Amino acid sequence: MNGIHRIVILGGGSAGWMAACLMAQRWLGKHAARPVEITLVESPAIGIIGVGEGSTPQLKAFFDRLDIAEADWMLACDATYKLGIRFHGWSERPGFERYFHPFPSAIDVHTQPHFQRACALQRGGTAAPAHPDRWFLPTALADAKLGPHADRRFPFDLSYGYHFDAHKLGAYLRDQATAKGVRHLERRVIEVEQAESGDIAALLCEGGERIEGDFFIDSSGFAAVLAEKTLGTRFLPFAENLFNDRAVVLPTPAATDGMPIATSATALSAGWAWSIPLTSRTGNGYVYSSSHLSDDAAETELRRHTGTLDGLVEARHLRMKVGRLEDSWRSNCLAVGLAQGFLEPLEATALHIVLATVEEFIAAYEAGGFAAQHRGAFNTRIARRYEGIRDYIVAHYRLNQRGGEYWREAAAMDTLSDDLKALMTTWFTGQDMNATIQRLDIARYYSNLSWHCLFAGYGSFPDQSKLREGAYRFDLSKAADFLDRAALNFASHDVQLTSFRTHQSSCKIGL
Ligand SMILES: Cc1cc2nc3c(=O)[nH]c(=O)nc-3n(C[C@H](O)[C@H](O)[C@H](O)COP(=O)(O)OP(=O)(O)OC[C@H]3O[C@@H](n4cnc5c(N)ncnc54)[C@H](O)[C@@H]3O)c2cc1C
Repeated sequence: MNGIHRIVILGGGSAGWMAACLMAQRWLGKHAARPVEITLVESPAIGIIGVGEGSTPQLKAFFDRLDIAEADWMLACDATYKLGIRFHGWSERPGFERYFHPFPSAIDVHTQPHFQRACALQRGGTAAPAHPDRWFLPTALADAKLGPHADRRFPFDLSYGYHFDAHKLGAYLRDQATAKGVRHLERRVIEVEQAESGDIAALLCEGGERIEGDFFIDSSGFAAVLAEKTLGTRFLPFAENLFNDRAVVLPTPAATDGMPIATSATALSAGWAWSIPLTSRTGNGYVYSSSHLSDDAAETELRRHTGTLDGLVEARHLRMKVGRLEDSWRSNCLAVGLAQGFLEPLEATALHIVLATVEEFIAAYEAGGFAAQHRGAFNTRIARRYEGIRDYIVAHYRLNQRGGEYWREAAAMDTLSDDLKALMTTWFTGQDMNATIQRLDIARYYSNLSWHCLFAGYGSFPDQSKLREGAYRFDLSKAADFLDRAALNFASHDVQLTSFRTHQSSCKIGL
């Protein structure tokens, strides 16, 4: 393996343990080309950030890759399913006060063309049913609180993500990784030793222990101990068009009237609040801009929003470092997770980027014979991914149609990337969005469906009063009928979650 025998991971948050699981799956054990040694070092005294409880479908792919069943990890992590994100209050245009952003699925081929046609007409000034919520099965299922698993005869699989308890997920992944042979050390790293070449040589721990390695993973969170502090990799902030730099979080009791199957993201005075349904509690947080709102005012606003003004539950305040490292892989170190970069969690993409980074790294590293041959191309791809996702998040702010100083500033920002400008020009001049997305080669970050849902969900159309009646008639009842009939194949979310418990207890009885 070209001299690489010892991989040392610094940090035991979700990022560190996900990297450990994937690398162990690939490089440890009897099927590995040449076994390596993987050590993960974390400091319980420093702890983990402990937020990050919503995912994209990439997390399903991760568990599938590790061959771990939902019934096992979801129960252990108080997890629920997620079909998308419901946005409330980002637009005040009548009829567009809320919309749902579904994860795209194969069944969308039946309705997406009609939705896009409706959008195209309305962009051109002709009235059409262009609100996204009327067109997609995940939206209908989320409204009815139905789970993502269909009756066996239903010919389409839905794409879905999850909500989960971050601390429990970390502990679960730790057990998986250590069972695969990853060595786990609880130590505080106080110094990093570099070789003459500049490569990292060893981590020095409190108490004097020295942990040598050939390759290092920096998953030390916002501290970015190895990549930024030791190797001096430049951090590129995204502050000029993502203003939010703080969050305040607090839990409320779990839902009792049917478990929601979507994250909700509600616009507030200087940012937005999430609500993430778990089986044990609901996670809530307010992501806001400290230039527009004090920490105390943000906490009060979140408490008002969540009905916790009595102060009985404690709130936690967090600072966020928004941006990315210039290079995720530098010298003999790969940065993963918050050490690598962070985009505010509006589309819950952080763990998605962690998984994509580790998987692409494994592929690039192996393709280069475990040398740095493909490092440049890898770094370019990761940077593009950050920027592709950033543009989609920035669009939520730039297109907002709300009052208030914060929202007006966001709508007026003129420091957009060329890609985002091209997409906005395409939409507002009635050109073909798909062609622009293809030309920019950005569909792998957000698809044509997602971009349409965003623009249309905000009501980014000519004024209602100026719309013409068109000759093209949509029979919306056909789409509604199609979605209703499709929805009959899905049991309730609660039933699908309870089936795990039934499965577990019947297994136990079987023993
Ligand atoms: C407000 C907020 C909301 C978020 N929501 C989402 C979401 O919905 N979905 C999503 O995918 N992501 C979300 N994220 C991001 C998500 O929380 C992180 O990507 C994820 O938790 C991974 O964090 P991490 O492992 O990189 O860092 P951390 O959890 O901070 O872990 C860092 C590790 O490094 C160790 N460490 C640091 N310094 C040292 C040292 N000197 N010696 C030894 N050990 C050390 C710590 O002990 C810890 O184990 C959110 C983030 C924030 C801030």
